[in-house]
Amino acid sequence: MNLAEQLLCDPQTLCALPNTVQPLLAWYEAHARILPWRQYPTPYRIWVSEIMLQQTRVEAVKGYYARFLAALPAVADLAAVEEEVLLKLWEGLGYYSRARNMCRAARQIMAEHGGTLPASYKQLRTLPGIGEYTAGAIASIAFGIPVPATDGNVHRVLSRLLNSEADIAKPAVKAALRETEGQLIPCDAPGDFNQAMMELGATVCVPKASPHCSICPLQGYCLAYQRGTVAALPVRTKKKPRKIEYKTVVFLPSEKGIALFQRPNQGLLAGMWEPLVLEGHLTQQEVMQSITAMGAAAIETTALKETKHIFTHVEWRMQGFAVKVDTFAVQDGIWANQADVLKKYAIPSAYRTLLREALQQYPL
Ligand code: SF4
Repeated sequence: MNLAEQLLCDPQTLCALPNTVQPLLAWYEAHARILPWRQYPTPYRIWVSEIMLQQTRVEAVKGYYARFLAALPAVADLAAVEEEVLLKLWEGLGYYSRARNMCRAARQIMAEHGGTLPASYKQLRTLPGIGEYTAGAIASIAFGIPVPATDGNVHRVLSRLLNSEADIAKPAVKAALRETEGQLIPCDAPGDFNQAMMELGATVCVPKASPHCSICPLQGYCLAYQRGTVAALPVRTKKKPRKIEYKTVVFLPSEKGIALFQRPNQGLLAGMWEPLVLEGHLTQQEVMQSITAMGAAAIETTALKETKHIFTHVEWRMQGFAVKVDTFAVQDGIWANQADVLKKYAIPSAYRTLLREALQQYPL
């Protein structure tokens, strides 16, 4: 199957696609957002930004990015960082395996590449956590290598330009769009071109029914615009619905601080710290029974709000309690004071609302 067949699009539109390159680059030069990682685009800074930007909005990333680079300004610092410090720097960004993989990659870069990210797409791909997209972004932006960096924004822009009804959830369609983007990359500006495609998708050719076609530099080349099909594109089959898990989250403040327990080293939120978490939505009486079984004496109990937190494949529906307790031996856990909670132990943002409410009730 050729590219046009794979993308269910008109071969002539595909052949005309190179005409979009110069208008796109001119638009990018005039309209690119000023972002911290674009100001001093070293390979390390681009790498950090690209990993942080996965699944996270630009505005949310800015603060984390500044804090991360201030604490770990070079590959060597990242390679040497303690996991507790790393997770605290990442706290709230989610997808913590990204941070762990960066640390493993940094160690590999120190061992195999003298502390400098390799200027090779192939070698970048051998580093933990650096997939096709991230390797393409680093290689093209930092090293000027003409390889594609095809993210969801690019899928959307290309699907609309080509009026392609191919399902972008399918790996074969993603590969065809990547190949299409790869054929457009100008050898003298691969980084700018890749960033321009992503920028157009992020700021103009935005999802759903609200792209800003009236100010789009590619409007004259866009078949979806001409045919009035913009809102229906791209086509993407729906993912399976998320699994819903019910939890009872119990904060245990005492004279010594608040009890925290470390999650297992594998799986969701691996190695992070959390309050007492009981499966299911339990009654206050059932919570008390669990606490008594732990050897604690409850002094006072407050019911907290119900909250939820959405992960990629699962949704937690949480009800909370804060139970002031007489100090007891915290098996497999620690007592954390206010400074520890703020600066030392990485606590998943899933618990943030409940933690804030518990600490308002029982300040440490
Ligand atoms: Fe996207 Fe509209 Fe531009 Fe087409 S004209 S690329 S749909 S913003």
